[in-house]
Amino acid sequence: NIKQLSFKWQKQQSNPTLAIAALEIAKGEHVFLHGPSGCGKSTFLSLLAGINRPTSGSLNIFGCELSKLTNSKRDVFRADHIGYIFQNFNLLPYLSPLENVTLGCQFSKQRQKKALVNSMTLNQEAARLLNALGLSEQFHLQNVANLSIGQQQRVAAARAFIGSPELIIADEPTSALDTGNRQAFIKLLFEQAQAANSTLIFVSHDESLQPLFNRNIDLIALQEQLS
Ligand code: ADP
Ligand code: ADP
Repeated sequence: NIKQLSFKWQKQQSNPTLAIAALEIAKGEHVFLHGPSGCGKSTFLSLLAGINRPTSGSLNIFGCELSKLTNSKRDVFRADHIGYIFQNFNLLPYLSPLENVTLGCQFSKQRQKKALVNSMTLNQEAARLLNALGLSEQFHLQNVANLSIGQQQRVAAARAFIGSPELIIADEPTSALDTGNRQAFIKLLFEQAQAANSTLIFVSHDESLQPLFNRNIDLIALQEQLS
């Protein structure tokens, strides 16, 4: 839930990088967020994830007013509630998929507890998610650096989903795949989001993916509502 949100990278900036008059996203929605390069998509995601703080306005996620939280409280918020799939995955290359995925909930007791609802141990839950996202057992203990891009993407997704965070943010995670594989991967994301009852915000340039989603947000059009 967003009202009069704005963000400037520098205080002395004349126009904000991002200005959104109002936006509501319902729990469980699968949102396709798009717009040309430089329009502020990554900046917007960094606010949603609590990485940066709004310069002004209200940004309320699950009853938490992010514009009022200190950096360290936003870090706790992010660890507890957000699963982030980065464009470049940000995996630890010399650890295994299992290790990378369990690290996804290391800073959140709450997510560790939720992960153990499905499985006996965090390792078992990581393995379950990796299988569900299409990475078979034979790869679970290898170094991530030895995996293909498509396989790394599945590890990054499993790491975001462990402990069922309420919001999954995916920043162009399929840019390395062809269209057929993109669609297949997105279907897997939807299945996991549904199973975890998570809201999904997915950023991409690829407009052909838009029909798969139940909500479509054009970041340029959204910001023009202000003027
Ligand atoms: P998109 O993700 O849609 O390509 P970005 O959010 O990356 O757009 O960028 C929006 C604007 O903010 C651009 O003008 C960019 O130069 C600027 N910007 C992005 N990151 C930073 C940063 N860390 N510091 C200052 N300006 C930034
Ligand atoms: P707190 O002191 O409550 O932890 P922050 O450290 O988040 O607050 O913010 C300190 C100051 O820096 C605030 O004035 C805030 O608006 C500003 N600020 C925070 N993030 C950024 C950023 N990415 N770019 C520019 N200014 C920022």
